[in-house]
Amino acid sequence: AGTLEVDDEEDPRERERKARAAEKQSKQEKLQADRKLLPMYPFREPLLEAIAEHQVLIIVGETGSGKTTQIPQYLHEAGYSKAGKIGCTQPRRVAAMSVAARVAEEVDVKLGQEVGYSIRFEDCTSDKTILKYMTDGMLLREFLGEPDLASYSVMMVDEAHERTLHTDVLFGLVKDIARFRPDIKLLISSATLDAEKFSDYFDHAPIFRIPGRRYPVDIMYTKAPEANYLHAAVVTALQVHVTQPAGDVLIFLTGQEEIEAAEELLKQRTKGLGSRIGELMIAPIYANLPSDLQSKIFEVTPPGARKIVLATNIAETSLTIDGIKYVIDPGFVKQNSYNPRSGMESLVVTPVSQASANQRAGRAGRTSPGKCFRLYTAWSYQNELDENTVPEIQRTNLGNVVLMLKSLGINDLMGFDFMDPPPTETLLRALEQLYALGALNDRGELTKLGRRMAEFPLDPMLAKMIINSETYGCSEEVATVAAMVSTGNSIFYRPKDKAVHADNAHNNFHRGSPGDHIALMNVFNGWADTNFSTQWCYENFVQMRSMKRARDIRDQVLGLMERVEVAVISDRSNEENIKKAIASGFFYHTAKLAKSGADYRTVKNPQTVHVHPQSGLIEVRPKWVIYHELVQTSKEFMRTISEIKPSWLTEIAPHYYSKREVEDAADKKLPKGQGKAGLDGAA
Ligand code: ADP
Ligand code: MG
Repeated sequence: AGTLEVDDEEDPRERERKARAAEKQSKQEKLQADRKLLPMYPFREPLLEAIAEHQVLIIVGETGSGKTTQIPQYLHEAGYSKAGKIGCTQPRRVAAMSVAARVAEEVDVKLGQEVGYSIRFEDCTSDKTILKYMTDGMLLREFLGEPDLASYSVMMVDEAHERTLHTDVLFGLVKDIARFRPDIKLLISSATLDAEKFSDYFDHAPIFRIPGRRYPVDIMYTKAPEANYLHAAVVTALQVHVTQPAGDVLIFLTGQEEIEAAEELLKQRTKGLGSRIGELMIAPIYANLPSDLQSKIFEVTPPGARKIVLATNIAETSLTIDGIKYVIDPGFVKQNSYNPRSGMESLVVTPVSQASANQRAGRAGRTSPGKCFRLYTAWSYQNELDENTVPEIQRTNLGNVVLMLKSLGINDLMGFDFMDPPPTETLLRALEQLYALGALNDRGELTKLGRRMAEFPLDPMLAKMIINSETYGCSEEVATVAAMVSTGNSIFYRPKDKAVHADNAHNNFHRGSPGDHIALMNVFNGWADTNFSTQWCYENFVQMRSMKRARDIRDQVLGLMERVEVAVISDRSNEENIKKAIASGFFYHTAKLAKSGADYRTVKNPQTVHVHPQSGLIEVRPKWVIYHELVQTSKEFMRTISEIKPSWLTEIAPHYYSKREVEDAADKKLPKGQGKAGLDGAA
């Protein structure tokens, strides 16, 4: 017995170590076995042969077949990584992160080592990285430092069917590279069967098709249009839960706010039901969901339970979630929309295309037959939905991309080899705006200022505001503002049961109505002054996560400022100068209170716009404002606004605003009936 006891004392640690090692090994074995079950696997050898034979290859395969996670690994296993990195672009940041994490697991390395990812404001790579996932926007930035992509042996432009702005621009750039770098391999992969267009564009590159495995999906339509699709989606999900056999549910919504509302509604509706229904696991996924929460969508559903994934169209093709059997598709997506004539750019909830609706439905039939509930009528599908989604390049502002292309020395933008060219008017508008910002000279060439602006992975207006802030003596404050508006997340939160407390706390930041930009700065400074305390966020009803992101972005902005030699100067108290610095970048986004006092009119190309209900200036209604962005929901709203003096506009942008445009009727004291026509036309 004595010996046994001694053994026992030594054993537990050893046993535990062995158990862990065994568990790890079996997990790794399972991962490797799963890789072999993917539809891609039987085509490993023929694919590698095709790649060896052709410089450019178009690869088509249904979502979930293993293109994104497997092809870079196959290439690595076949030795391509000896000659350089293997890059793979993704249109979405969440996909880049999530796929890299998965591949790191499969390769059995720590994420950020041999397998890494790079997204805006976050570089998770090292010297060791050989498989690099990145957003298409990041690869575009890499061109600035490495115009021939010399460090890569293979570049895979993935999810090509999404036709994001950055992917479309990449097409032109990589096509060019292929011509003078015969050693680089170029893969264009896509989930749509219509690959001829890609092939034609890439000088008739061969198409490699991976046959899909797809089970039938029953498609159900509503009899009449739904007045409230969010509500209808939740009700449908619960009906599925109560009446349908096992299988997870995927609901397509348009953004974080909707997803949060749906989550809340689902919880409310199931509260009283207790054990009468099976357990529900609610898993949200959207672009700005913190990465530690993203993996929830991949958690295996325990028997008897059901997972409901609430996703933006990121789950349409970029991410594959196993186990989905029911898809609920309200038929909407949030999209950029841009009117080059007025310069108005906004995010709009619009009906999806038929192609998109079919992709969504396909998500239900990946591993077994499934059902798709379309929350619109069959008639509407046939008659109201466009056949295909318009490529982003044709419905967005091109300021940033034009600045980048100019920095790459591409001067003739009209002659650039676009797969689908942007509207000429949009290109001209971007050139005109960059000229107004001082990034281009009157011959359309990049100026010194433009070169500095291009260093910032930000909208040209933000870049200009940051660079100019030095002359206003408040560059540190402006960096803070830039970071806060770039988080993409909501900063404030307002729990229903503590709404009054939350409002009081938030009102503190707006005390004296300094405007939303300064209020955002106050939030950051308040947090920084408490040494970034969690408690402070809690007490002030501020989202800690958004703040951490703002801090990261701010650090990067400060780093870039150093690189382009913008001195960091601080003057917190001079709010007028801070606002002037902001206006020096955002003089394009100016609006004036309408005579009626009910709404605002943009100053150039007059359009009616409104103060966003969450603005601190909603009651104040200053006469002249600048706004950060427009969002269109029920109306066209200006989000994040500050009051300005009209005289600043002629001071800051004399080339853009004439005195007449920024005069106030009241200041002119015209006799009744006179001068009205001129003012209405301009203001
Ligand atoms: P494709 O690019 O062809 O759409 P992927 O390579 O993205 O296919 O996906 C192949 C498989 O890997 C899918 O079954 C998917 O569920 C799985 N997978 C991908 N990313 C993850 C992840 N982060 N966690 C768990 N499984 C994942
Ligand atoms: Mg993929």
